[in-house]
Amino acid sequence: MGFSGYVQKSRETRVKQALREAREIIRRTLGGQPGGSLEEALRDLYERVPREEWLRRALARYLLGTVERQGSSTWVVRGVPELGDRKPLYIVTFTGDRYECSCYRGAYGWARRRSICTHIGAVMLERRRRRIDDYAYGSQ
Ligand SMILES: [Zn+2]
Repeated sequence: MGFSGYVQKSRETRVKQALREAREIIRRTLGGQPGGSLEEALRDLYERVPREEWLRRALARYLLGTVERQGSSTWVVRGVPELGDRKPLYIVTFTGDRYECSCYRGAYGWARRRSICTHIGAVMLERRRRRIDDYAYGSQ
C-alpha cells in the first residue's frame, strides 16, 4: 500500500469511528440523558427533522470537522466520499428562511431536494450549538 492508500485507509477508519460515535451520542441523547450544548442542539434538531439516520450522518459530518463558516450565512462543508459525496466541497447558504446546498444542483438534485441533505443538517447542528454556547457563556 502506497502513501495515498494509507491516507485513504485512515480516513475511512475516521469516518467509521465518527459514525459509530454519532450513533452512540444520538442513542444517549434521545434516550433522555442530559449533556452539554451538543446534546441540546441535537434534541432541538431532532424535533425539526425526526429521522435518526439523517441525524446520525449530519452529526458524523460535524464530528469530522467538515463544517466551516465562511460568512454570516455561508458555510463550506467538506465532502466525505464514504458518505456518498462526489465533490470535495459543498456550499451551504441560508437566505431568509431557507437553506440551499450546492449538492442540489448536482446529479440526483431532485431526489435530494425533497429531503434536507445532511450537509445542511451538519450546518444546522453547528449553528444551534453555537447559539446555545453563546446564550450560555456569551455574556461573561
Ligand atoms: Zn448538500
